[in-house]
Amino acid sequence: MKKNHQHSPWVQPARLVVQLAFLAFATFAAWRHQVLGGGPDGSAPVDALCPFGGLEALFKFVSSGEFIQRLNTSDFVLLAGTIVLALTLGRYFCGWICPLGTLQELARKLGQKLFRKVRITLPARIDSPLRWLKYVVLVWALVFTWKTGTLIIRPYDPWAAYAHGFAGWSEVWAEFSAGVSILLGSLIIGLFIDRVFCKYLCPLGAFLGLTAKLGLFSIKRNGEGCLVCNKCEKTCPVNIPIMAMHAVRSAECIGCLTCTTTCPTGKKGTADEGRTFLLPAIAGRQIRPAMVGWAGLAIFIGMIGSAQLTGYWRTQPASIVAAVTSAGQLDAQAIRGYMTLEDVSKSYGFELDKLYRELGISEQKVPATSKCKEIGKLLGLSESEFDTQKVRDAVVRLQNKGK
Ligand code: SF4
Ligand code: SF4
Repeated sequence: MKKNHQHSPWVQPARLVVQLAFLAFATFAAWRHQVLGGGPDGSAPVDALCPFGGLEALFKFVSSGEFIQRLNTSDFVLLAGTIVLALTLGRYFCGWICPLGTLQELARKLGQKLFRKVRITLPARIDSPLRWLKYVVLVWALVFTWKTGTLIIRPYDPWAAYAHGFAGWSEVWAEFSAGVSILLGSLIIGLFIDRVFCKYLCPLGAFLGLTAKLGLFSIKRNGEGCLVCNKCEKTCPVNIPIMAMHAVRSAECIGCLTCTTTCPTGKKGTADEGRTFLLPAIAGRQIRPAMVGWAGLAIFIGMIGSAQLTGYWRTQPASIVAAVTSAGQLDAQAIRGYMTLEDVSKSYGFELDKLYRELGISEQKVPATSKCKEIGKLLGLSESEFDTQKVRDAVVRLQNKGK
């Protein structure tokens, strides 16, 4: 047999470094937005940094030419990046980039430390039907977001819950109780079961899996030299029956390469040194695992960088005045939580007094420099009792009165 690729023992440590770097960046971006505040000149909201938001927005944008609240072109760029990745390198985004995937892997590592090697695998009769759940979530999220024009999945999104954690427990619980429960549930169950949210619930994972099936990536197994040790299957976090396949082209494969780096064939000191029998492949041609790592980073970072250079990377509305309804009025839905009452009054052309009266609040309790998202707190109300939507509604009423 021809000399094959050498093992790359540093691929998994390198993958962990990449995952931690993206997790750290995403966490920092969330902290910056929550603590330092957003705004046209401020930091990006977490919703503008999510490829799934891009998929939801695409439906709305194609049908009406409007953006969904909180989203912008950055979501489309990220979506395009993950699609290109999925077509070339499978679910690289899931295995190397997604911060939620990383949190689950960290939980699993902690579980292995705390509970030795306990690893629970659900029996097939439970596992198989549960895997379909993520496709149901995908269809539900897309259909209802398109119909309502709002991010229907947001309150249930564990990443949004994580990213809003810096706003404080009471705020995050008020807005994201479902998302917090899913996040904590996934991490606690994730101590024993690998990637539980990815396998059963994630709509983005479902979409990327289907896209990857159309693409070039596979994990190719050369049965001739296989030692039938079963290590690849035992370590696969999404439990793919690798031993029964010549090439893994499953929508479940997250491209983590754990199987290829665990495969003992080709390791130093073995009879087949230098000839590895389980490797990633593009269009059927086996490549080094390290190449997958580098190529994925180059594609993803390259696409974001190009979008920034060409001005397509926008995470904030350039100007609220640009948002106009079909009736020719300034669109009240463009009002954001970071805007102050003064901003709203100036931008929408209403006197502050009128705005106060319409909102039923007083300047003594809520100064004009208060941000819309802070008003509820100043009045001693929860976010569900007084949120930014109340200000939008008040502006719409004033616009209607002025007709
Ligand atoms: S399946 Fe979802 S949560 Fe899991 S890594 Fe992929 S995108 Fe992230
Ligand atoms: S088949 Fe290999 S690359 Fe795919 S998820 Fe399983 S271990 Fe990771």
